[in-house]
Amino acid sequence: MKGIMIEKPNVLKIVDLPMPELSETNDVLVKIRSTGICGSDVGIYHGTNAAATYPRIIGHEVVGIVEKVMPGVTRVKPGDRVIIDEVTSCGHCWPCLHGRGNVCDNLRVRGVHIDGGYREYVTVPAADCYLVPEDLSDADAVMIEPMTIAVQSCSRARLQPDDTLLLLGCGALGSSILKVARHSGARIIVADVVDEKLQEALQNGADAAVNTRREDLTEAVRALTDGHGSTVSIDAAGLPDSLMSLLQATGNAGRIVTMGFSNNPSPVTQFLITAKEMDIMGSRLHYRHFQDAIDMINAGKLSLEGSVSHTFPFLKAQEAFDFMDSRDPSIRKIALLYD
Ligand code: MN
Ligand code: ZN
Repeated sequence: MKGIMIEKPNVLKIVDLPMPELSETNDVLVKIRSTGICGSDVGIYHGTNAAATYPRIIGHEVVGIVEKVMPGVTRVKPGDRVIIDEVTSCGHCWPCLHGRGNVCDNLRVRGVHIDGGYREYVTVPAADCYLVPEDLSDADAVMIEPMTIAVQSCSRARLQPDDTLLLLGCGALGSSILKVARHSGARIIVADVVDEKLQEALQNGADAAVNTRREDLTEAVRALTDGHGSTVSIDAAGLPDSLMSLLQATGNAGRIVTMGFSNNPSPVTQFLITAKEMDIMGSRLHYRHFQDAIDMINAGKLSLEGSVSHTFPFLKAQEAFDFMDSRDPSIRKIALLYD
């Protein structure tokens, strides 16, 4: 079978791989139908993802059909269409014992630390498979994974109905977070530098929008909140100055969730953290949130239809990554489709 391997930074190869074998008692064999291309996949391709090791079969947004299961597996059966949880954890370290397997001391993410889904077949434990809602296309179904990341950040933010959330960044990540956050009942202020993205956010449930190219973020947020500032803020922009901006725009006793993945230092002052008695929390990947995202889709609270803007045949991955690199403004999500 064929797979897409990033041999080393900037070298993408189509390689022949052995068929994976069902070796553990709870394994299932999945024939891949579609995979998403994530910003982090592009980072691995270009060598800018600090977590990645090479050579690597990438791909962590992975939808397929169960082809074979080990005897005794009851969670899924052959013919089921599933999405695969990319987070694998050891189960016995401190974070794992405290419900935080997404930051396991021995964390292995499929497509990052171990081989992922850009290949024709994978074997995974049945427990990592989640049934995909029937009326979702193979392409759109890959978007369930980014929604799990959004669910994680909203759960880290502990959103409550009396919160005013400041969501910084309305790109792929920010718009996914908005789709989840709007069900919390919190008031939502979005901020970005692109008017079209802010308009889209307002249509998708944001209550107010700030263009930080024209307006000072802190002043604008204060004006919208009787001078207090936001009660909770999520950084979906991940820029070097994001954290300092949010420390200023978030009010006393506030919370801030960071999602940036850059190694570059971000200048902040301790005074703002201490004086406002802030809680600052990271949000990484997700911990077992696939079912939450799927439940939201099945309940009609979340629509992923039409969220994929472009598809490429799996073996044209090079073209797809080159197109990603073009930063064409029409790109929302690119999915690879398999025969
Ligand atoms: Mn992703
Ligand atoms: Zn662990």
